[in-house]
Amino acid sequence: MHPFQYQRATSGSQAVAAVAKIPDASFIAGGTSQVDLLKEGVHQPSLLVDVAGLPLRQITDFEDGVRIGANATNTEAAYYPAILARYPAVSEALLAGASVQIRNMATMAGNPLQRTRCPYFRDLAQPCNKRTPGSGCAAIGGYNHVHALFGASAACVATHPSDLAVALAALDARVQTTGPQGPRTIAFTDLHRLPGTTPHLDTVLAHGELITSIDLPAFAGRSHYLKVRERASYAYALASCAVALEMDGPKIKRARIALGGVASKPWRATSTEALLAGHVPTEKLFRAAATAAFADAKPLEHNAYKIPMGRNLVVRALLETSGLQPLAGPAGTAFAASVGGMAGQVATPN
Ligand SMILES: Cc1cc2nc3c(=O)[nH]c(=O)nc-3n(C[C@H](O)[C@H](O)[C@H](O)COP(=O)(O)OP(=O)(O)OC[C@H]3O[C@@H](n4cnc5c(N)ncnc54)[C@H](O)[C@@H]3O)c2cc1C
Ligand code: SF4
Repeated sequence: MHPFQYQRATSGSQAVAAVAKIPDASFIAGGTSQVDLLKEGVHQPSLLVDVAGLPLRQITDFEDGVRIGANATNTEAAYYPAILARYPAVSEALLAGASVQIRNMATMAGNPLQRTRCPYFRDLAQPCNKRTPGSGCAAIGGYNHVHALFGASAACVATHPSDLAVALAALDARVQTTGPQGPRTIAFTDLHRLPGTTPHLDTVLAHGELITSIDLPAFAGRSHYLKVRERASYAYALASCAVALEMDGPKIKRARIALGGVASKPWRATSTEALLAGHVPTEKLFRAAATAAFADAKPLEHNAYKIPMGRNLVVRALLETSGLQPLAGPAGTAFAASVGGMAGQVATPN
């Protein structure tokens, strides 16, 4: 492992200053992602500033929504009563990720900031523009079955791996930060970047900008997260879908749909959302919406299978969220390896 200095942050402003002044310094929180990258030699910082001890762990009611401290663990957020009851997609997404042990360590800021699971990114023998800008992209022309359908570029076709991020995008969460230029609020849908010609930049955060909380705005509808993966545990989404539905009597007032596993950021299907507004939910409507959601998909050589898989997932997520189809239960079974179906029911911590 590349040698580095380790420092425990004493305050948010000290952490920001310490990282901001050294170009290859970075934060570490739960460490479940950072330590892997350090061991693999993919990430070689000269300084790690540990922010896990900062008092950013509280989850509180905030402006009719919920404010989740950056250092709250994935487990704490998943089982927080107001999140389970009012934002079940967030709980479902968290519980569909990693393992109990990892969720107990992983933080709410660290999760959406984890880096891609493109296998070439972690293989130092392969060219990768995200790891080493200008070196090339082994996935284009390589085995690209887990790669992007939307928003990719000639420099990078990677996908973003966080389940949580997909639910937060569908719920229009906001990210609070403090950085070298002071505090700011970022719409969650603007946090992650498309690769363009700078795939080494995953987010819009400035160097040294610290996330302090993630805010869930007021929401009175139903939400739901579904994920398809290659095995039932310890596997990232091949495709996933978060839905947030608000009803006006029998009609859909507003629908929000975010897709995971298909782009370098959670992919909001905004034109599809507009198709649903004002209509009474039917399976036919949902099938048309799912077709529209993937109409602009640009498959690579090995990932076209994600298009029918993603469409079916959107239909099922909409059917279950609207109540047209019963939830498949906590270990949702329509896809053997999916997790979901909590949608407002209180689950027991494991
Ligand atoms: C075997 C395995 C399976 C997994 N499966 C899944 C899965 O199925 N789905 C899924 O979504 N995830 C999965 N994960 C990823 C896991 O969820 C992440 O590793 C974890 O959420 C990262 O959180 P952390 O606190 O440990 O972050 P760290 O590893 O400490 O940091 C991650 C990144 O966040 C930055 N960071 C941390 N805190 C802050 C802050 N406050 N402000 C600014 N930057 C910050 C760090 O600098 C770093 O860049 C898996 C991980 C493993 C090891
Ligand atoms: S897809 Fe992106 S992360 Fe993967 S090898 Fe290409 S540049 Fe690297």
